[in-house]
Amino acid sequence: MSFHDDLLQRSLRESPPVKRGNYPCLILNADYQPLSYFPLSLWSWQDAVKAVFLERVNVVDKYEQVVRAASFEMEIPSVVALKDYVAQNRSPAFTRFNLFLRDGFECAYCGSPDDLTFDHLIPRRLGGKTSWENIVAACSKCNLRKGGRLPKDAQMHPQNAPFRPTMFQLQAQGRRFPPNHLHESWLDYLYWDVELEP
Ligand SMILES: [Zn+2]
Repeated sequence: MSFHDDLLQRSLRESPPVKRGNYPCLILNADYQPLSYFPLSLWSWQDAVKAVFLERVNVVDKYEQVVRAASFEMEIPSVVALKDYVAQNRSPAFTRFNLFLRDGFECAYCGSPDDLTFDHLIPRRLGGKTSWENIVAACSKCNLRKGGRLPKDAQMHPQNAPFRPTMFQLQAQGRRFPPNHLHESWLDYLYWDVELEP
């Protein structure tokens, strides 16, 4: 264990005056864009402090709260930027969440955000696959109305043809949906398409 690790371990043992789970830290990539918008890339303050000690990150902004130990004190970082850029070229997982995110948490047919489910454009019984290209978010009403028919038979067509999104496209969507908690020091790094409190 290096000197820094040891120091860090001791500082954490000496019960700093904050509770675990508080003081989340926003993680920026080396280009100062959030590492991820959705879910928003956050670390516990413990991990953030550790990364500072390991010199993996630059501290961009801080809380007023200080972590104290016998030999050092540090203001808890509220925003850090990775020193090494993490490439974002992996393709997004095909998950419920990512699919809703692609479709903006709205029914692809009527635009309602309520009672969202999934609809197979080409029904499974007709050989339709469970894939990015064949599934759209649909409210239960529309799902019921379409009722396992082809779009042309049901006279129901999604407003946008479903597609396999890139990570970049999902990240762009994520900016429209802010998480519940935003520390004020994060706002400079987040460009949500919502009105922020003055
Ligand atoms: Zn609908």
